[in-house]
Amino acid sequence: MTKIKIKPWILNLPEYIPGGTIEDIREKYNLKEVYKLASNENIFGPSPKVIEFFQAGFDDIKYYPDSYCRQLREKLSFKLGVDEESIIFGNGTDQVIEMICDAILDDTKNIIIPDPTFLTYEKSALKNNAKVLKVPLLNYRQDVKSIVKSVNKDTAIIFLTSPHNPTGTILTKEEFEYILNNIKDDILIVLDEAYVEFMPEKDKIDSIKYLKHFNNLLVMRTFSKIYGIAGLRIGYGVGDKNLIANITKLMQPFVVNSIAQVAAIISLEDEENINKNIEIIINERERLFKILEKENITFIKSYSNFILVKTGDKSSEIIEELLKNGFMVRGGDFLGFPGYIRFSISLPEINEKFINLFISLFKKYNN
Ligand SMILES: *Cc1c(COP(=O)(O)O)cnc(C)c1O
Repeated sequence: MTKIKIKPWILNLPEYIPGGTIEDIREKYNLKEVYKLASNENIFGPSPKVIEFFQAGFDDIKYYPDSYCRQLREKLSFKLGVDEESIIFGNGTDQVIEMICDAILDDTKNIIIPDPTFLTYEKSALKNNAKVLKVPLLNYRQDVKSIVKSVNKDTAIIFLTSPHNPTGTILTKEEFEYILNNIKDDILIVLDEAYVEFMPEKDKIDSIKYLKHFNNLLVMRTFSKIYGIAGLRIGYGVGDKNLIANITKLMQPFVVNSIAQVAAIISLEDEENINKNIEIIINERERLFKILEKENITFIKSYSNFILVKTGDKSSEIIEELLKNGFMVRGGDFLGFPGYIRFSISLPEINEKFINLFISLFKKYNN
């Protein structure tokens, strides 16, 4: 064993276990079709125009990418109605979260997160020796009153997610405003909206609008979910220009590759395709809710492209049997919800196959 010393906080981290790939599962169980419903990607994939573009060839990859993402930045700032300088792009939202923490946290600070929540927040805080204060969900929802109560003099960042992962629940406008109005303006509020596009219009809170009045707010979005380009790794944050400028100084210059930049631009242009996919997902979500209700299976009413269902103490058996039949889902053990599974909403015919199989397994193991 090497004598190189690793920092203690890393030694204490659980080992990173990469999920099986579609190819692994296909081989292991000798399957023709495998459906990955484990990571909430968009099964419809990117805009067909993205595929067309890359089929035509893309010679620019011999150059370093544009570190400022100029064209994309212009397009996005116009779409969002914000200044170009208020946007920061990263190699996935994951990286933006990490950079925010690197820029702000140290061993005298803490962050507040709902529990459970997306894992990246905690990891990025621990990396900076900051403390992590966890506020349990209340009825599967982020508990804004308790979050505000947990703030202390060392609190530097509060991470909120709407729709929340893994429950799919949202913050209402009142809850969001409650946080904004009850937190001192030297605490950064990060609102991660990775799944915002899947919300019905009437429930959206137009978070970007609040940036004008709250310069301690940072809104995060991604191209990994509705835009269907998770594999290209690109996400962004929008916030105060000065804050963004400082976080940007920390970034390596070429984290967003040129292929991702072009694909993101084309994706933003093809609103028709996006809207069509959203409509299908929302319809399928409602349909799946009805089916689960009819079967008396407990689930959380999600506003996103996934559903968390209660499976009971035989979850791992159900997951294994789903896998044997070509369906990859996420076990609740990994998500802070033992006894549950989370599955992504897919194409109607795949959902149909999945839900029928799931219900029969649920009944088999809950008798
Ligand atoms: C999927 C997801 C993201 C997106 O991460 P990327 O790094 O942009 O792929 C961010 N936040 C949450 C809560 C997510 O579930």
